This record gives sequence, C-alpha cells and structure tokens, in this order.
Amino acid sequence: MLNAKLRKILTGVGSRNLETAISVANLLEKNEISMADFVSYGKAYMLEKKRKAQEANDLIANSLKLSCPVCGEPINVISIRLPKGKQNKMGWVSLVQCTKCIYESYSKMDAQKKFEQLIRLVRR
Ligand SMILES: [Zn+2]
Repeated sequence: MLNAKLRKILTGVGSRNLETAISVANLLEKNEISMADFVSYGKAYMLEKKRKAQEANDLIANSLKLSCPVCGEPINVISIRLPKGKQNKMGWVSLVQCTKCIYESYSKMDAQKKFEQLIRLVRR
C-alpha cells in the first residue's frame, strides 16, 4: 500500500525534482526541521518573494511616470561620482535631468533615495 502511494508521489514529483526533494529531505533531517515547518516557512518565503517582485514591478511602472516639471518629458536621476571639491563645490550627490529640455535639479540625496522620493511624490 505504502509502495503504491509512494510510487504515485514519486511519479508526480518527477525524476528531475526528485534529486532536489531528496537533498531537501536530507537537509531538514540534518537540521532537525519538520516537513510541516519547512512547508509553512517555504510558503511564507515564496509569498514574500512574490511581494518583492511585485514591488519592483510597481517601482518600474512608477518610474515611467517620472516626468519633467517643465516640459513633461521623462527625467533621469543620475549619480554624481565626483567628490566634493573644485569640480563639485557644493558636494552634489545626484542630479535630476530632463531627457529633452534644459531642466536640471541637483541634490545632496543619493540617486536611489532621490528616485524613491520622486516616486513617492508621483504616487500621491
Ligand atoms: Zn523637460
């Protein structure tokens, strides 16, 4: 009876996944983690990954909406690598620049933070 059930499961898993399944089972046993815990954490982990992927997609979608306050064309947020000095007297860290007109806005916020700030403004 057990063999028939087992055979059915193995067929369902498929030989390709069986190797992974066996490694997982071995790791769980070695670390004294129950299959139930593995499944429940595994599901939570997958959901979290999905949520993060969705967030990244939203960020990209929102970034497409970032537009120049002057002409409405797309803008870029650029990192300024020059350290504070002769060529960067104010110590700017990032630059928001229009792809079409002469609009420029320098900032002391790093490019990623500036980008996120602009996205938050768009979302409102
Ligand atoms: Zn512009």
